[in-house]
Amino acid sequence: MHQTEVAAGIRARIRDVADFPKAGIIFKDITPVLADATLLQGVITAMAEPFAGVGIETVAAIESRGFIFGAGVALALGAGLALIRKPGKLPHTTTRVDYQLEYGSDALEAHTDALAAGRRVLIVDDVLATGGTAAATVDLLQRLGGDVVGAMFLLELSFLGARQRLSQLPVRALVAY
Ligand code: AMP
Repeated sequence: MHQTEVAAGIRARIRDVADFPKAGIIFKDITPVLADATLLQGVITAMAEPFAGVGIETVAAIESRGFIFGAGVALALGAGLALIRKPGKLPHTTTRVDYQLEYGSDALEAHTDALAAGRRVLIVDDVLATGGTAAATVDLLQRLGGDVVGAMFLLELSFLGARQRLSQLPVRALVAY
């Protein structure tokens, strides 16, 4: 599939669900994209393409929908996979980062041995919204000694201004709203 076909397919398939998981949020439901075999393959190829040939050794995938795309991109790039999870999910020794949300705070964890020092890492998730999660992930990966090369998303909500928060990092998304 050509890039433009992939982008058109994503736009056609993404389903907007109003007031999920809470009032005022328009949730971007990606499951119709996953259900389309041709599109799913096109999406994974297109998400890997911008970071092919730059020596990505590890894909860091963000819980939980990021795991789906992250695993595919890791296979496409010949990279390993590191899991970025909500607290308390990973079984071994973890490194944790706490970060502020608009109201309150949240935290992410990775296994402390998820990366060898100096590893070239690509962050993958489904949706870039405010960028808080991605910025915290950069922080976490750097604490683990990773060399964060970029971040790749299926889609971004560009009106939320995440790119300002991630300005030092190459950020790509297949579709922007
Ligand atoms: P943020 O930290 O604001 O960039 O939020 C990113 C995380 O929240 C990602 O892991 C997304 O899966 C999820 N997310 C945020 N907003 C939406 C949305 N409107 N639709 C679907 N997922 C979202």
